[in-house]
Amino acid sequence: MILTDDELERYARQVVMPEIGEEGQKRLCDSHIAIIGVGGLGAPVIMALAGAGTGRLSLIDDDDVSLSNLNRQYIHNTQTLGLSKIQSAAAFVRSLNPDITLHTHDQRFDTETGHSLLSDVDIVIDCSDLPATRYAVNACCIALQIPLIFGGAVRTDGQVTSFLPANEKSPCFACLFPDADVEFEQAPSCAQAGILGTTTMVIGALQAAEAIRIIVGFGENLCGTLLLYDGLNASFTPIKAQRTPHCPACADRP
Ligand SMILES: [Zn+2]
Repeated sequence: MILTDDELERYARQVVMPEIGEEGQKRLCDSHIAIIGVGGLGAPVIMALAGAGTGRLSLIDDDDVSLSNLNRQYIHNTQTLGLSKIQSAAAFVRSLNPDITLHTHDQRFDTETGHSLLSDVDIVIDCSDLPATRYAVNACCIALQIPLIFGGAVRTDGQVTSFLPANEKSPCFACLFPDADVEFEQAPSCAQAGILGTTTMVIGALQAAEAIRIIVGFGENLCGTLLLYDGLNASFTPIKAQRTPHCPACADRP
């Protein structure tokens, strides 16, 4: 018996699955995942991973909960308005699953602090919404050889993929979105363009599913595929995501 009686009962509906079983659940319970950004995408990622029993979660964000967050960020609520998102998210996780060990960081992720924040993390999930943060997370994950799960969402559209620095064929975030990519840098923010809660729920759920897939070790992961979600027409389109030879971020990587 590798799980406690309480764990066996809490996670019974996934332990019963042959793809997971007790061993897969133990891997989840022993894993440490960092979530950068505790907003639109971070909320469904946290809900899914806290529920599934990810042993340790590191939450990183410097924002406070505001009323306009609540159409989509369901880990926060009317009672936590004005609190830091980190405090609000921690309260949610403790009420859903007190067995999770939380590391909370009420700060913006940057290259100076990134290495120490991610030093013993198994997977990083990028749920941020600023290009500068995304490039910093990408650089840090390449340096530390940590798998990075990327997601983006605006209005009714979203995209998700994963970057595995230990896989020599894996692209990185900067391969797909070069620094000079004007279109990406000038992409409208959710405040300007709008965002539907169902879009972030879909993309966040796909990011969490990718993390579980990689940690437990079943099925095919999304490395090498950028999965596009079109919420206007309810369709998904996978496109090839390739490493670029002179990428400024990963060209020196093996
Ligand atoms: Zn690259």
